[in-house]
Amino acid sequence: MTMQSVLGSLRETNARYGMFHAMTEDTEPGDAGFLFSAKDNLTSKDMETCAGSRILEGYHPVFDATCISKMRGAGGKLIGKTNMDEFGFGTFSANSAYEVPRNPFDLERACGGSSGGSACAAMVLEDHVSIGVSTGGSICCPASFCGVYGIAPTYGRVSRYGLIDYGNSLDKIGILSTRAGDLRKYVNIIAGKDERDPTSCMQPELKNEGRGIKSVAVPKDGVQGLSADVERVFRDSLESLRSRGIDVEEVDMPSFKYAIPAYYVIATSEASTNLARYVGMRYGMQEGDLSLKFDDYFSSIRSQGFGDEAKRRILLGTFTRMVGYRDRYYAKARQVRQLVIDDYRKILRNHDAVLTPTMPFVAPRFDEIERMTALESYKADYLTVPPNLAGMPHLNVPCGYDSDGMPIGMQFVGDHWSEDSLFTMAEDWERTFELRRPSA
Ligand code: GLN
Repeated sequence: MTMQSVLGSLRETNARYGMFHAMTEDTEPGDAGFLFSAKDNLTSKDMETCAGSRILEGYHPVFDATCISKMRGAGGKLIGKTNMDEFGFGTFSANSAYEVPRNPFDLERACGGSSGGSACAAMVLEDHVSIGVSTGGSICCPASFCGVYGIAPTYGRVSRYGLIDYGNSLDKIGILSTRAGDLRKYVNIIAGKDERDPTSCMQPELKNEGRGIKSVAVPKDGVQGLSADVERVFRDSLESLRSRGIDVEEVDMPSFKYAIPAYYVIATSEASTNLARYVGMRYGMQEGDLSLKFDDYFSSIRSQGFGDEAKRRILLGTFTRMVGYRDRYYAKARQVRQLVIDDYRKILRNHDAVLTPTMPFVAPRFDEIERMTALESYKADYLTVPPNLAGMPHLNVPCGYDSDGMPIGMQFVGDHWSEDSLFTMAEDWERTFELRRPSA
């Protein structure tokens, strides 16, 4: 397939899968070296940017996020902004004010979230690479559900300038693609120091020395609560790693089970402050009744503009930061976060990576998602949240399929700044793993 034919059929493909919120009108590749898409919470000059929220409808940023301008600078053509959960709040991309992307392997099922549209585009479009964002698993989860490779690099590796923040101490920008080699290639393009994001300025350079992984640790809590298919495919994958000479050892990671409660306290606390800037004045939605007093005006805009999940997180996050509760929740959660980091470090002293399945089940059907409570969907992230809380790089590798042909992934977590070993691992795995594409 040529770039031209991908661009020519973009509208049709999007009508089938619903992956793009906004997309290019231009069907000529021109002198583009490659085509890419980006999650819709990254600002882009030529396309509306809404982060899945009604409150940002009509927002046309006047600048590109650093990662987008770097991709353009390397010869990339931005062809679409991908559908997502509102501000990243979700696990299935179903909490969107716009279109909900459909899984390329079964249109009745979700793509995962919150970078669901990015995983879908990476799987569906030929030679495509997509930029995703992860706060608590939003790259690895959809990569696993859609059967693609995906990396969330170390916190601080990629500048967050131009990212519509969810939780500033957690947000990371990464890459999704059907080709393992793309992760290394494009992270090298978007990574690097950027004085507009001070957290990116402390990073050591990516080495690309090709040091692979010789031993992995599997936390015991990371293999609990799996569906039978995920458990079987994961066990087979461990055997396959052993047959390649990789040492596999089960380990205890006591803090593992506390990561979810700590994450949802920290993430909602930070989200609730970030969302305070959306009041119908600066960006997006502005059609309120201006004769109202300013706080009534703000409330009316926010009542209409935010979806249910955003409102739930404002309530939760405001509560956990309240005077009198702050120490009990937010401060406590930060202590747990340190325990998670310490546990990973201890394990990674003796192993090159920590390995678990990425998600405990395959992509659920939309009717199943509708029946889930908020708590059930929060709990579904128990495997992807720990590395996010620790700010450690983690990479989804497609490793098998269930009896219905739905993809299953496993997640390698490396120490801070050790992306290189993870890339090499994924490239080695790809040599023998037969990745499937859905029949159109
Ligand atoms: N599912 C998690 C949440 O809702 C993670 C989402 C993300 O990484 N943006 O917070």
